[in-house]
Amino acid sequence: MNLPTLFLSHGAPLLALDDSPARRFLLGLGKTLPRPKAILVVSAHWETLGGVAVSLATRPETIHDFGGFPAALYRLQYPAPGAPELAERAASLLEAAGFAVQRSATRGLDHGAWVPLSLMYPDADIPTAQVSLPRGASPAEHERMGRALGILREEGVLIIGSGSLTHNLNEFNGGPIDAAVPSWVSDFAEWMNLQLSDRQRGALLDYRAQAPFAARNHPSEEHLSPLFVAMGAAGEGAKAERLHGSYQYRVLAMDMVSFTS
Ligand code: ZN
Repeated sequence: MNLPTLFLSHGAPLLALDDSPARRFLLGLGKTLPRPKAILVVSAHWETLGGVAVSLATRPETIHDFGGFPAALYRLQYPAPGAPELAERAASLLEAAGFAVQRSATRGLDHGAWVPLSLMYPDADIPTAQVSLPRGASPAEHERMGRALGILREEGVLIIGSGSLTHNLNEFNGGPIDAAVPSWVSDFAEWMNLQLSDRQRGALLDYRAQAPFAARNHPSEEHLSPLFVAMGAAGEGAKAERLHGSYQYRVLAMDMVSFTS
């Protein structure tokens, strides 16, 4: 059986430490899936210019790519082994699909990758590699990127897109994790979920024009782009299932979605 692909909303870095419904969901998620041979993560926190990049690191470092959080968060390590052979295979598949691919020998795991993985697979014993987002690419290009990688599912690879269903941190007002959610956030999240459940691929790829408050929820697109990669990797006619939905800090929809073909 092929693994599903996943879109995970990773929220704020404190997701790694502070109890919340989204954190509890991720703590149980790994056990619901067949154990993957390796994991390939496309995270909002690695964008590259001029094409896609893959990391060939054999022992990827835990990158604490955030500022102003409690010291305990900077002490967390996620020492999963790298997956250089998988990364090289991903690079070849992407090149065959016409993407320019850079190879990094040293790039580690950013918090978009290691925070959810530290909850899903706390033993850090599954080889993991990251693929970057090509900065400025369209939803359709990100979907096409996923299409190129989808065959890896047949080889036991879990493909994860890690971002956030809504992500306007300029409108985070310092309130509590369970602050009331404005309708411009929930309207967008509900629209996205409706299109996902109805398999409205065209509307999703055109979300910027069609969804309510699209630009307000994603002033820049990098936190939504991983969704299109995960959708593409599940193949044509992929079926989406909302595995979890909650909100944090007023502006972050923490939806988790699986895609199966
Ligand atoms: Zn993020």
